[in-house]
Amino acid sequence: MTVETMRVLILGGTTEARQLAERLSIRRDLAITLSLAGRTSNPVPHPVPLRVGGFGGAQGLADYLDAERIDRLIDATHPYAAAMSAHAATAAQIGGVPLLALRRPAWTAVAGDRWTEVADVRAATQALGSAPRNVFLALGRNEIAVFETAPQHRYLVRSVDPVEPPLAVPHATYLLARGPFHEADDHALLTTHAIDVVVSKNSGGAAAYGKIAAARALGIAVILLRRPSLPDVPAVATIDDAVAWLDRMLVHGPSSPVRGV
Ligand code: NAP
Repeated sequence: MTVETMRVLILGGTTEARQLAERLSIRRDLAITLSLAGRTSNPVPHPVPLRVGGFGGAQGLADYLDAERIDRLIDATHPYAAAMSAHAATAAQIGGVPLLALRRPAWTAVAGDRWTEVADVRAATQALGSAPRNVFLALGRNEIAVFETAPQHRYLVRSVDPVEPPLAVPHATYLLARGPFHEADDHALLTTHAIDVVVSKNSGGAAAYGKIAAARALGIAVILLRRPSLPDVPAVATIDDAVAWLDRMLVHGPSSPVRGV
């Protein structure tokens, strides 16, 4: 007897996507492919087949879903990967492929936090003010060029891959590192570099929370980029719930057509 497998595409680039793929990789009733944007030159090893690079917009993704006979789509991208999430919603609709978003809840401030929320990196640059400050830039290497317009500050930049070319500012220090980052280490980092403000996305989750917790403990200001709005699609917050969604889909059984249910 042949067992029909459900073909699942996970849009990844996050710890959760990798963990979900890991959970599902041992399932013989599922064929998982994980898609990465290709933002890092040396991605963490993944336990399922990978495809890397853009699809060419929503229609490109719809074509891919069709060509690869994908039955289910899980958008487990970063909360700031709004273009990819929008394309996923459109492509799922075009192809009649059920879509689930795995969305990480945002971090929330607690009493005493010195957080300022801003619309984007340009607003973050302005929020630093004119007086020189020691700034920890915990942003993707592709989004920090705008800080060249505020060369009076000293920057500490942490990224997975080198910032090329380096920022055209007189004082910038670069740190190559890949999370997870723990509070104790980030506490030491902020202290050593005498940081007085952290600029970050509100990524949510544990892996990048170290700097937020450390800033809280040290009474350091945090400038957070506001989360982009995402398409209104079925969403869950945990890997368990994403697995349960797939399991519910499988209840249809191997004899019923999986695509377009
Ligand atoms: P984006 O603006 O949503 O995506 C731009 C394009 O990249 C998409 O239209 C798509 O190209 C391609 N893409 C994105 N995710 C993909 C995936 N999983 N598989 C295949 N193609 C993918 O996202 P972004 O430019 O990557 O980043 C936006 C923000 O998210 C940044 O702040 C970044 O730091 C943050 N972030 C992203 C990732 C990531 O892995 N993407 C990880 C951590 C943080 P096509 O239109 O050609 O399909």
